[in-house]
Amino acid sequence: MNYYDGKMLDFVQKRQVERIKFMENLGRNVLPQQVKRIQQNDKMVMKDLVLPGWLDWDLLYEWSMRRKVIDNPRECILCNEKAELGVDFNMKFLCEACFFKIKGM
Ligand SMILES: [Zn+2]
Repeated sequence: MNYYDGKMLDFVQKRQVERIKFMENLGRNVLPQQVKRIQQNDKMVMKDLVLPGWLDWDLLYEWSMRRKVIDNPRECILCNEKAELGVDFNMKFLCEACFFKIKGM
């Protein structure tokens, strides 16, 4: 499991709903230009963003790398719907909705 999935799972287990929601909405708060800078490992971008203390660089970086696959929706192994956002479990794709369903939220 990568760092991002590990963190998200951690938030789910600790019922840190605010953090999960923040990560879900992050795409709306970060400009495409800024996403690009994050992907380029340009930590100066942190100055332009208002982020909570728990959101560390590694999490932000992995989040930005995930944004790349958004142009390429994948099929969820559970509901067979094409989805943009989700998690990888053992190389299989699970959409966000199914992920949270499984985690009992
Ligand atoms: Zn699904």
